[in-house]
Amino acid sequence: MLAVENVAVTYRDSNGQKFDAVTLEKAAFSAGQFTAISGPSGSGKTTLLHALSGIVPLASGEIWWNGNLVSCLSEAARDQWRRVNIGYMFQDFQLIPELSPLANVALAATFGRHQVAKNRAEVLLEEFDVPVNRKRTFELSRGEQQRVAFARALYFNPPIILADEPTASLDKENGRLVTSRLRALANSGKIVVAVSHDAELVNASDCNLQFSRGRLVPDRAL
Ligand code: ADP
Ligand code: MG
Repeated sequence: MLAVENVAVTYRDSNGQKFDAVTLEKAAFSAGQFTAISGPSGSGKTTLLHALSGIVPLASGEIWWNGNLVSCLSEAARDQWRRVNIGYMFQDFQLIPELSPLANVALAATFGRHQVAKNRAEVLLEEFDVPVNRKRTFELSRGEQQRVAFARALYFNPPIILADEPTASLDKENGRLVTSRLRALANSGKIVVAVSHDAELVNASDCNLQFSRGRLVPDRAL
């Protein structure tokens, strides 16, 4: 289980004033659970995923993973924890445009040296209908790049998948492919958290949390 308690993430605005981008008293994500998070642009959804994965420092609060405090780890230990446990699909993909899709998925460091790495990357790219023979990722369409980013998040077979608007650039068919993969991942015991407004993705999830102004909004308040 991935749990957060009294978490706050603070940024500074253009005037240097601090503001809370996210404040969250309690939330927990269990193995097998597919959670969709929706809410207006700028409400803090991306920041929440960053906080869950330890990418941004917390102003306060704790993150727990299976009873261990992640928020107390050193930066190096947290990086290691993230590498092992989290598959993160960034809203802006964060791919390396000059590298091939295969290298982006299998990671430049391992690519070429490990046949296994290449095979798994190839299988994932084929599953998501990405041309594996392109030399450079910037030659791909935006939708194809989004699927490369998704494939990379799955590459290490992590127990937690955090996906930031994973179907935003996809046509219906590919959106369904990604959504059904997220559903299947949860069914196989992964924790899946996806930020999305996509009605089909939200329908496939177990729980749709609404986010507004950095906070979870209870359904009854809507
Ligand atoms: P969402 O994903 O819901 O659109 P974000 O989490 O990206 O929202 O942003 C939440 C708020 O925090 C917005 O007001 C955004 O402008 C601000 N913000 C995001 N990242 C930073 C940052 N690195 N520094 C300062 N402000 C930020
Ligand atoms: Mg966002």
